[in-house]
Amino acid sequence: MQSSEILSHLAENQAVLTGHHFVYTSGKHGPAYIDMRRIGHQTDFLRQLGFEFSKRLSTYRPDIVVGPETLGRTLATHTAIELGDLPAIWCDIVDSESGEKKAVFSEKMNFQRLLPGKRILIVDDLLTTGQSLRLTAEAIREFDVEVILAGAVVRRTPDVIAADCTVPKLEVLADVEGFELFTEEECKVSGPCSRLVPVVLRPGHGWKWQESNPDYAGGFINLAV
Ligand SMILES: [Zn+2]
Repeated sequence: MQSSEILSHLAENQAVLTGHHFVYTSGKHGPAYIDMRRIGHQTDFLRQLGFEFSKRLSTYRPDIVVGPETLGRTLATHTAIELGDLPAIWCDIVDSESGEKKAVFSEKMNFQRLLPGKRILIVDDLLTTGQSLRLTAEAIREFDVEVILAGAVVRRTPDVIAADCTVPKLEVLADVEGFELFTEEECKVSGPCSRLVPVVLRPGHGWKWQESNPDYAGGFINLAV
């Protein structure tokens, strides 16, 4: 599956939304949003993505595939099957006591017992800052593993590279172009705020922005599924 086919499929299924007015986790505004939940149930598409990861990463001979919740978990399973029925495990990204995010393996599953001495492949759906892959790599590195590779289906920010995820090898299946980001002030001058485009409450953090800007003249809409 070519990058262009992956991007077309995401666009056809509204997993890449454009021409709206979103507020991101960072607080910045912009016209586009990637909502991978829209394809999270599509086993055929996810299988093809798993096949793509296996094709591009099998030469690195991973032993285990790890996926951070949510969609990374399903992708890990599909990728592991394509790599020859390897073990597939997952971890959760949670808020630690200090308020920072961290990746943890569930005590109930005790998956970390499988990690020492192994070559690990981490796969995830969306790469924005590299945080999920980096946190997952950090959690895995505590278990004396041999090497950690990473794969992401789509990348929103082209300058995010393997080093940002603290891995030696990062394979991205498709880059989504044209993500314009505005600070709140910039948005009022030349972004969607300046044209009074309705702010999307969900997906994204528009609902939070609404709390401090309830009288925004462009109004609000909901695009959540
Ligand atoms: Zn705005």
